[in-house]
Amino acid sequence: AERKRKVGDVIEEVERTLSTPTALLRGISDALVTEMERGLRGDIHCQLKMLISYVDNLPTGDEHGLFYALDLGGTNFRVLRVQLGGREKRVVKQESKEVSIPPHLMVGTSMELFDFIAAALAEFVDTEGGLFHLPEGRQRELGFTFSFPVNQLSISSGTLIKWTKGFSISGTVGEDVVSELSKAMERQGLDMKVSALVNDTVGTLAGGRYLDNDVVAAVILGTGTNAAYVEHANAIPKWTGLLPKSGNMVINTEWGSFKSDKLPLSEYDKAMDFESLNPGEQIYEKMISGMYLGEIVRRILLKLAHDAALFGDVVPPKLEQPFVLRTPDMSAMHHDASHDLKVLGTKLKDIVGVADTSLEVRYITRHICDIVAERGARLAAAGIYGILKKLGRDKVPTDGSTMPRTVIALDGGLYEHYRKFSSCLEATLTDLLGDEAASSLVAKLANDGSGIGASLLAASHSQYA
Ligand code: ADP
Ligand code: MG
Repeated sequence: AERKRKVGDVIEEVERTLSTPTALLRGISDALVTEMERGLRGDIHCQLKMLISYVDNLPTGDEHGLFYALDLGGTNFRVLRVQLGGREKRVVKQESKEVSIPPHLMVGTSMELFDFIAAALAEFVDTEGGLFHLPEGRQRELGFTFSFPVNQLSISSGTLIKWTKGFSISGTVGEDVVSELSKAMERQGLDMKVSALVNDTVGTLAGGRYLDNDVVAAVILGTGTNAAYVEHANAIPKWTGLLPKSGNMVINTEWGSFKSDKLPLSEYDKAMDFESLNPGEQIYEKMISGMYLGEIVRRILLKLAHDAALFGDVVPPKLEQPFVLRTPDMSAMHHDASHDLKVLGTKLKDIVGVADTSLEVRYITRHICDIVAERGARLAAAGIYGILKKLGRDKVPTDGSTMPRTVIALDGGLYEHYRKFSSCLEATLTDLLGDEAASSLVAKLANDGSGIGASLLAASHSQYA
């Protein structure tokens, strides 16, 4: 009975400190919009970088030719080639290959990482054939999707601001990542030109727009989280160049680094942040994205084990190990719909090392997954709502005109595979927008849109275009 009471106390405290009532979400959206505006002004104290992408035109559908893309994300990288056939034929053929990044390369040297990538790319190029066709005398071209914050110098160059997610590589910060990649390709004897350097959000936005003209923003919910959207070029005070003809500029918000006293950090968030590779940074990301959700659950379970003997008198040693509980496992536990939570029991046995958990312990574990996933999804929805506000698409026009259809392209393993997360995100958006405005909003899964998007941007910025 004493144990039960202690368990109840901890759960109650977790429910309270991880709760995100709608009014709180509205405050977070407003704080995000304020930060976005500061970032666009170039305020150096601003957390949101609001990076200028140099993409002032999104794909039109006319792109044609053979293009490659390379997508370096958090856990995998993908190489892709696509034969574009212009307005009529669109994507004639595409092929891709996914390679996982050996963990030691994520904390090694810049050269090792880029050599590994270039080697995989060269190997992939060697398998080109069939419907893929490069006109005589032309150099192959590549769109490089790089999912880390970059100070873009042009559409095809930019210096790394910092590593995020699990990466911590010496000697890359401040360097032009395109020239790093180009040098590595040269070392591989691969003759290819990087025509576009794009963030994955920008690639997803481009890929989304190619398929649907109403796409105005893209959100990534994968290992990390980030968003990009189409801004009016004259609403970017820090942009000192010529106004682009289109009047638009795609902005990579880097919203993962959003930080605000409106964001309620629990003791679990604070401890995880403190022990992370990048303390004090990427606070919003750490509450939302796939790299961290499972780890937050682990920390809460550990607290329950310590303070309330949830798994018996001894704390399971495996539970002490940071990041043993991965978000895909959390998702599998959360979705367990069997009457005795069999899947969840097996996961606890495999991951935490406790056999024979009681049904009650399994229910509690699932409840913790629910709390953590729901908070992440609701915070992500507040971010999207913030972007809609910034775009003036958060409410039905008062002048009687019809609400424009608005499409958000979403991608990332967390959004794609964690169903309870994505459905909570969508329900929360409807809640924030109200039924009428929500009815003209479409959240669209842009599966691997960033790779296609990067190749489309390589096409529109081709040296031969
Ligand atoms: P990246 O963000 O590294 O570019 P992805 O978009 O493929 O790559 O996202 C991978 C991340 O998505 C994983 O790190 C994991 O956190 C999350 N993820 C993958 N599968 C699932 C799943 N079944 N349930 C929940 N999260 C998942
Ligand atoms: Mg990715």
